[in-house]
Amino acid sequence: MKALVLEAVKKLSLRDFPIQETVGLYDVKIQIKACGICGSDVHYYLEGGIGDFIVKEPMILGHEAAGVVVEKGAKVVAGSCYADYLNSFAAGGAVR
Ligand SMILES: [Zn+2]
Repeated sequence: MKALVLEAVKKLSLRDFPIQETVGLYDVKIQIKACGICGSDVHYYLEGGIGDFIVKEPMILGHEAAGVVVEKGAKVVAGSCYADYLNSFAAGGAVR
């Protein structure tokens, strides 16, 4: 998996990170299709922080993502977790 990492103020890198191959009983694996960069990310990039939060070590930017559920754990059903909000998870279903 690749991720955009803020290494320092105005310094970005695209790094590879390993992903966990096995999906736990309560986990959902989502193939990310798009990821937004929001105003907080812009402050982190330009100023190294926002408000009281100061970036002190490399940090992955982009926390607003959309993707497709490609796998789910055996115990993930509607009502068991975040799935309540999304109504249900199914392989091939979209998460927005
Ligand atoms: Zn945000």
